[in-house]
Amino acid sequence: MSVLPVFKVGHPVIRQVAEDLTPDELRSDATQRLIDDMTETMRSRDGVGIAAPQVGVSKRIAVLEYRQNLRYPGHADIPLMVVLNARVMELGEETVDAWEGCLSVDNLRGVVTRSTKVVVDALDREGQPQPLAADGFLAVILQHEIDHLDGKVFLDRMKDLSTLTQLEEWYAYWDGRRPVDPAAKDPIGTSGIDHVGLVARDLEASRAWFVDLFGMREHSRSSNFVCLRVNEQYVFLLDEEATRAREGPNPRTALAHLALRVTREEFDRALETLAAKGIAIDEGPRQRGAGRSIYFKDPSGNQIELHHP
Ligand SMILES: [Zn+2]
Repeated sequence: MSVLPVFKVGHPVIRQVAEDLTPDELRSDATQRLIDDMTETMRSRDGVGIAAPQVGVSKRIAVLEYRQNLRYPGHADIPLMVVLNARVMELGEETVDAWEGCLSVDNLRGVVTRSTKVVVDALDREGQPQPLAADGFLAVILQHEIDHLDGKVFLDRMKDLSTLTQLEEWYAYWDGRRPVDPAAKDPIGTSGIDHVGLVARDLEASRAWFVDLFGMREHSRSSNFVCLRVNEQYVFLLDEEATRAREGPNPRTALAHLALRVTREEFDRALETLAAKGIAIDEGPRQRGAGRSIYFKDPSGNQIELHHP
């Protein structure tokens, strides 16, 4: 299997309506190899789906798979699915607003309204009929990928562009629009972020530090990251070597400064814990009303800011 170049919006192939595979094409070595390469390409980019036009082939082929990842944290796993000659047959009336991004639209996210249920007609990679009735995240991914087969991208599906945001600004200014259940509140809460990645020099040491200091819970992990959960939000600790190998010296998926906004009580409790552990803190300027900020370093040298309003 090999990783293919991803074609970006603006290239005409992204806007073409893709053609069905004939039975002969479907069974051909070239198509079967393309399916494998698309799978490899999707995985290498932390995507949850990819359609053939995104690798420059205007045919109705899409693959999708979800395992816990940095781009889309917090859903149940979806095993690898290959959908060929796929068409949406029925869309449920109930809709959901959720953030989407796309491997063909670099660095942008936006809130898209999608049906929560979808019925799809498709073939599997052997050419057998594969009728799908999907709901939840899978329904959303199917709609996104089948849109690609019809020459559409998620930008076309946004009701308005007011939520369109670059990734860096998304990390900085958008909350995940997830209501936080006060009953499930962790000792330290964050707000203002949906999820964030911090580069960790030593994954295990960083994991232990965050769990110990903030009472975070481990949510999931892979060889390249550990995902910790706080309330409904996620902090990803990314293996430094793997992240830099993939994204270069200034990785887009990682921040060097994590701001945690907490209540006064949580702030006081954290101060005690930090003092007990002998972790040096700097006082921040008291410029945000009567609030207070402190700054300290995590074991990898990332700056953590704790703020109460
Ligand atoms: Zn896409």
